[in-house]
Amino acid sequence: MTGKSIGYFRLVEACDGPGCPVCAYLDADSRRQLTTLFEEHVTDVATRRKLRASNGLCNWHTWMALEVRPAVTGVAIVYEDLLRVCHERVRAAGDRRQGRLARLRSWVRDTVGRARRANPAQRDRCAVCVQLRTAEAHCLEAVLRFADDSEFERAYRRSGGLCLPHLLDVAARGAATPGVETIVRRTLATWQAVRGDLGRFVAKHEYRNTEPIGEDEARAYQRAFEILAGGRNIFGNDLREE
Ligand SMILES: [Zn+2]
Ligand SMILES: [Zn+2]
Repeated sequence: MTGKSIGYFRLVEACDGPGCPVCAYLDADSRRQLTTLFEEHVTDVATRRKLRASNGLCNWHTWMALEVRPAVTGVAIVYEDLLRVCHERVRAAGDRRQGRLARLRSWVRDTVGRARRANPAQRDRCAVCVQLRTAEAHCLEAVLRFADDSEFERAYRRSGGLCLPHLLDVAARGAATPGVETIVRRTLATWQAVRGDLGRFVAKHEYRNTEPIGEDEARAYQRAFEILAGGRNIFGNDLREE
């Protein structure tokens, strides 16, 4: 079958790891993007502009930089710049609340279209997340498109199956496509296997049991976490949801 992109092959590779392959792909893609950002794009004007517009990266990608361990001087250069810009924005927001002259300055700023930037609380989306959103859409399309491709089928059977949020996304996107039925059927079979492992894990904790607990059984509750909530950090939390 033609039309297999680099993204497709990375998705197939992600099927070899634990958990949802789309979540794993997004995690790996985040790490690749962070490395490129801090090692190659530190002085890139467009990148700097995007980072300033979003007050840096989102919480997930900011802290992920510690795990990725890119060149620390690149990180320091970017964050010195961001701190300087945010310092200026907070100071300007304070100025706006004082006096007629400051209000006039604020009006001028607003008129030239910088009103949104004058409020540090308003920010653009994290640049890494923006790219991930496109990558996620491509992954979900590939899952549907190649559902019946023999290579993808073998890879998907090895995987932990899609998580619930990604399965629902696939179902919504592919309502009228033949691939969706295949993916739902295979994913539910994987979930069923995890339920079986959970049941055996609980049963084997019964005091008369002498059978050892298998590796899949011991990990079953973590696999259930991932099925229900998606990969770690991929879907955020509800703290700020309205
Ligand atoms: Zn997922
Ligand atoms: Zn992000």
